[in-house]
Amino acid sequence: MSEAPETIVCVECLGQARLMTRIPEDETMEPGTPLVYHCPDCYGRFDVIWEPE
Ligand SMILES: [Zn+2]
Repeated sequence: MSEAPETIVCVECLGQARLMTRIPEDETMEPGTPLVYHCPDCYGRFDVIWEPE
């Protein structure tokens, strides 16, 4: 499993934060890639460093 989730649970309001970073489908993501999620409910922005398990 090496794909960034389209949505994550917002830590602020438990809503659905959506992935704002465009990831080309044919591209493998490197560990450490910064991803930006935005929550439409509380307008929160979350930066996540991609670290595949
Ligand atoms: Zn939120």
